Amino acid sequence: MTQTPNTPEFEYAIIGKGLLGAAAARHLSQQSDSVALIGPDEPKTWQTHKGVFASHYDEARIVSQSAPDSEWQTLDRASIVQYPVIEAQSGIRFSTPSGRLTALPKGEDIFYPYVASNAPNCLSSVNHAPFSFPDNYDVVFEKAPSGYLNPRQMVLAQTTCAELQGTAVIAQQVSRIELEQSLAKISLTNGELIYSKKVLLATGAFTNFFDLLPRQLALKPETITTVLAEVSEETAVHFKNMPPLNYMNPDGPLIHLSILPPIRYPNGRYYIKLFTFSDAERPLTKLDELTNWFKKERPFPYLDLAKEIMQALMPTIDFLSWEVKPCIVTYTPTWKPMIDCVVNGRVYVAVGGNGGSAHPSDAIGKLAADLMIHNEWRSHLEHKNFQAQYADDWSDWMSELTSVWMNLD
Ligand SMILES: Cc1cc2nc3c(=O)[nH]c(=O)nc-3n(C[C@H](O)[C@H](O)[C@H](O)COP(=O)(O)OP(=O)(O)OC[C@H]3O[C@@H](n4cnc5c(N)ncnc54)[C@H](O)[C@@H]3O)c2cc1C
Repeated sequence: MTQTPNTPEFEYAIIGKGLLGAAAARHLSQQSDSVALIGPDEPKTWQTHKGVFASHYDEARIVSQSAPDSEWQTLDRASIVQYPVIEAQSGIRFSTPSGRLTALPKGEDIFYPYVASNAPNCLSSVNHAPFSFPDNYDVVFEKAPSGYLNPRQMVLAQTTCAELQGTAVIAQQVSRIELEQSLAKISLTNGELIYSKKVLLATGAFTNFFDLLPRQLALKPETITTVLAEVSEETAVHFKNMPPLNYMNPDGPLIHLSILPPIRYPNGRYYIKLFTFSDAERPLTKLDELTNWFKKERPFPYLDLAKEIMQALMPTIDFLSWEVKPCIVTYTPTWKPMIDCVVNGRVYVAVGGNGGSAHPSDAIGKLAADLMIHNEWRSHLEHKNFQAQYADDWSDWMSELTSVWMNLD
């Protein structure tokens, strides 16, 4: 098909309006007035939705500065300092710098996904209400700006900044990318076409399931279940300053638990959210498995155990109801996002959040934007740690369940 005079043409097109794509759009549009950010909005009704979903369809993600390695720490800290800038430019508040608690049995240090001893500005003695921890536990409080953020609002804020800087935001799904002479032809599912000189895929869990790449990436989407424990408005107000908690329960099978404070959800009710990794999860290898995971309700075999742990940790809280919600984590074999060029000077990727890329998303987006603009890696972080990995080089790893890694010796 030849390009018609009315077909939009851009210097940079970002596919995927999630945390990484929206961040990249903000950074690219600071340098270029020809940027498109293409990706659907969240569906109103998940059950009947026919397209892709996202890992940011939620109200809270933990923000920490104490990642297990220096690369993640660098990304986390570089992102966190940008939050006030993004909030001021967009007028949208998404972060709550409440601090963050870690509670783990004495003598333990490594605590997925954060390391207690890496946390700056730590206090070991704070008012832990509403938590009641076992006597043999160490409790570490990491001060602000750690805390939590609202991922939906963060995407909106980044998108708003990008739009204010001239980005065209196109709420469509992409079905295909074809490389023509000097332009990439991007086919939208509504039948329209967009052309762009350079393309960034920030398509999260769905990256390998459309005709977007010449070679499949070593990205492994796995199910993850969140538990929403409803509390009254009165309880939510009373504990509004509660920090998020990372809690280690070595007795298993739910070893590493993340608990978010009471937050008002779009249905008007207040929930304390828990998410954890367990052998109840599984890798998803087909498009319909991914979409069905979001659409169909399934029982969570550890719900009773999760209730027990929550009630023991917060004995004064009266939980009103319990619900489980699906989400997806996209792993890479290197435990780092892939930020790379996959077709020389034309197609780039920023994918593979590994369950922790909400709070460092702005810095990941910036690395991708810089790579596209300069066509070279511009960071003191080593690029080899973020290079694209391919599915056919990692076939054994692709079929293993990563979510239970922390249960293994
Ligand atoms: C339960 C849970 C808890 C988490 N907790 C934390 C936490 O506490 N702290 C933290 O930092 N991180 C956390 N994360 C991880 C974080 O949410 C992800 O790392 C982050 O959402 C990844 O961003 P992304 O942009 O790669 O993917 P997404 O946010 O999923 O965005 C990808 C976007 O691509 C779009 N897309 C896909 N295919 C196409 C296509 N063909 N055409 C157009 N658009 C397309 C989708 O619509 C989507 O909007 C958690 C994740 C989960 C699931």
